[in-house]
Amino acid sequence: MGSRQVTFRGQQITVAGLGVSGISAARALAGLGASVTVVDGGDNEGLRARAEELRAEGVAVRLADAETLPEGTELVVTSPGWKPGSPLFAAAAAVGVDVVGDVEIAWRLRGPGAAPWLAVTGTNGKTTTTRMLAAILEAAGLRTAAVGNIGTPIVDLVLGEEKFDVLAVELSSYQLHWAPSLRAHSAAVLNLAPDHLDWHGSMRAYAADKGRVYEGNQVACVYNVADPATEELVRAADVEEGCRAIGFTLGTPAPSQLGVVEGLLVDRAFVADRQKQAQELAEVTDVRPPVPHNIANALAAAALARAYGVEPAAVREGLRAFRPDPHRIEHVADVDSVAYVDDSKATNTHAAEASLASYESIVWIAGGLAKGATFDELVQKAAPRLRGVVLIGADRALIREALARHAPGVPVVDLDRTDTGAMSAAVQEAARLAKSGDTVLMAPACASMDMFTNYNKRGEAFAAAVRELDAASA
Ligand code: ADP
Repeated sequence: MGSRQVTFRGQQITVAGLGVSGISAARALAGLGASVTVVDGGDNEGLRARAEELRAEGVAVRLADAETLPEGTELVVTSPGWKPGSPLFAAAAAVGVDVVGDVEIAWRLRGPGAAPWLAVTGTNGKTTTTRMLAAILEAAGLRTAAVGNIGTPIVDLVLGEEKFDVLAVELSSYQLHWAPSLRAHSAAVLNLAPDHLDWHGSMRAYAADKGRVYEGNQVACVYNVADPATEELVRAADVEEGCRAIGFTLGTPAPSQLGVVEGLLVDRAFVADRQKQAQELAEVTDVRPPVPHNIANALAAAALARAYGVEPAAVREGLRAFRPDPHRIEHVADVDSVAYVDDSKATNTHAAEASLASYESIVWIAGGLAKGATFDELVQKAAPRLRGVVLIGADRALIREALARHAPGVPVVDLDRTDTGAMSAAVQEAARLAKSGDTVLMAPACASMDMFTNYNKRGEAFAAAVRELDAASA
């Protein structure tokens, strides 16, 4: 604790954004004795009310100007939504002032002897893998929490009273971008596919931000053997002496890898003799759900836990105890021998590709906001498994055109709707297209905000529609 209080005391700090994370950062920093000003470009009743509350706590707030740097600023703390090109950051750079995010603040606030971080990033599977990792660490009897992009805001956790042995930290590319001094014990990049390019500017910049997670790793850099770009990031990273590159694969593992052999997850990395030895960790059926990309997530989580010294038995126990979060390949119900699966969290094509690869015969509900994505590759790969497709949402034409090019024989129902009620119609259309033994899979490959508040609401609308269908068929 002792070294913490001095870190930000008396510093003049500007917080960018009067949202949830900005408010939490402002409060924490003010509590540490910093002199804080929050700036936001907006100016409406809601913001003014929040501003009043903060001012009462001694935090200055400036509305209707997100561009000029307050006089005397020594550090800028940004909220994740702000793009790197924002004028405020240019103004800070011009006078040599650092811009950092909440993760960097949390990192700098760690006292001596603080819990090391096991970090997880990647385009898809971060939350699942981080939670699996926390479950494994818990099974090993360690005091831990899943944090970062999930759970308690990381600054609050670091400043809290609770003591931890080790943390499972999910990090988004934004958080990594703004966390230059973070040094994890070990880290994993699960996969790399184009996403959020509007924010990062290019695939190269996005990959570089993800790759920061490996910088300064002490024990292991965990990469995906099937995704060579992740291994390249390991090679590019500057790590501590003796830190190892550890691969995970759905195939038979080579030395220094974790993989799958005859239905078992096995470790050929953290064993005494990796040339000759392989350690069984768990059965594939211990992973929930046991679909390929999720087995990969489990292997990555296991690799990080093993890097920290966790025993094999705890890996199995932790994976068995793990329960997936809602809307991630969640089986909602069987109606008339057709399975209805909610993968509303598949908000990009890479995620949808993984879930479409998990079922044999699929009626696919897709569409929403494409965020600049193209669908040709996804549709090409999924085509042989598609019984039919139901399209909803703003950018559905992009998917329809890709289907016309690569899956011309597959029946497509274009609902031509972007209202919230469209989900119920989509489920009914899907039920009409499905045959016994099929899976109706809502994995939209798009963001939800054209029709719903968020992907949770989209998933709930799907589940409600399936229940309606179930009631009607009973
Ligand atoms: P994130 O936190 O990175 O968004 P989640 O664990 O919440 O990841 O999963 C998001 C979606 O990505 C899920 O709906 C699932 O379909 C898909 N997904 C999960 N793991 C993987 C993976 N390893 N590779 C590809 N897609 C994945």
